[in-house]
Amino acid sequence: MISLHGLTKVFPGGVRALDDLDLEIGDGEFFALLGPSGCGKTTLLRTIAGLETPTSGTVAIGGTDVTNAPPGRRDVAMVFQDYALFPHMDVVDNIAYPLRIKKVPRAERRAKAAETAARLSLSELLDRRPGQLSGGQQQRVALARAVACRPKVFLFDEPLSNLDARLRLEARTFLKRLQRELGVTTVFVTHDQGEALALADRIAVMSGGRLAQVGTPAEVFQRPADLFVASFIGSTPMNLLPGRVVDGGLHVAGATLPVPAGLADGDEITYGVRPEYTDLSTTPRPDAFPGHVVVLENLGTAHLVTVENGDTIVQAVVPEGSEPEPGAAVWAVPRQDRALVYRDG
Ligand code: ADP
Ligand code: MG
Repeated sequence: MISLHGLTKVFPGGVRALDDLDLEIGDGEFFALLGPSGCGKTTLLRTIAGLETPTSGTVAIGGTDVTNAPPGRRDVAMVFQDYALFPHMDVVDNIAYPLRIKKVPRAERRAKAAETAARLSLSELLDRRPGQLSGGQQQRVALARAVACRPKVFLFDEPLSNLDARLRLEARTFLKRLQRELGVTTVFVTHDQGEALALADRIAVMSGGRLAQVGTPAEVFQRPADLFVASFIGSTPMNLLPGRVVDGGLHVAGATLPVPAGLADGDEITYGVRPEYTDLSTTPRPDAFPGHVVVLENLGTAHLVTVENGDTIVQAVVPEGSEPEPGAAVWAVPRQDRALVYRDG
């Protein structure tokens, strides 16, 4: 549905916001663009929308090259972080605005706007102005405005980031359900890895105007392609430890582990294992990282345990009820079937 080839954007002044990007997004897909601030997410979205012209490369939507087409010819609807509602218009007129631009007759566009408003539980608010709405309601009006004109593609730029934590979770579920019902191809920008994992069919992790990895939430969570993705994805940071192959064993933070395929004596690597895939033993084992419990954090149904040994820090998530005492000697056991080895460390 969306096809990007060699997409590059260099801003006046020399910032290379997009660097030779190739990406295919499928029909009906919920696709997340994830990355830290400044990595080029908004620029990519605005380039798909036609609000930025690429320095080089092409954008196609639905098989048609739209690289030089104005935004109005692309059949996309964009929802911005700040919603960009018109303060002097009531809810109906805000929702109907894109239909007005498309010259849909007044009665028809008001009917369509009211129907969309009903779908987003906004029927009671049609004659209010944005200033009289809560943040969550404004967010739904912005969504309704995007939905009303039934575009081929939704483009969302951090649409949930101005909501407080609880509303944000509600809005996320709502958005996912709406997208499923409508089946519209959606590109969703976020810097929140949890949001991307929860919502997306596939995720592109961006770094410095490039795509570090494109994959399903399970792929980027379980098999991050590099150390950047490994440290960016996950609600607790992945344990990343230096390791070295010596005498047929992989030595990492006091543990001796089997040597992964492809490594040989003398190789230096970074060993990665998520706290969720790290268990704790109260008796010594050679394949575990020894240390002492320095911090216990209650996660609700589990505890995040921080284990220290000199300069080495390892974290483990243990089920409620099985957490050790602070100060206890423990051995943090990596699940070897979930561990990763990076040569770039
Ligand atoms: P993100 O949305 O991931 O935070 P942006 O796409 O907004 O990132 O920005 C990517 C890079 O491009 C940043 O370094 C930013 O400062 C720069 N940039 C964005 N817009 C412009 C602009 N209009 N002029 C110059 N530099 C820009
Ligand atoms: Mg942005």
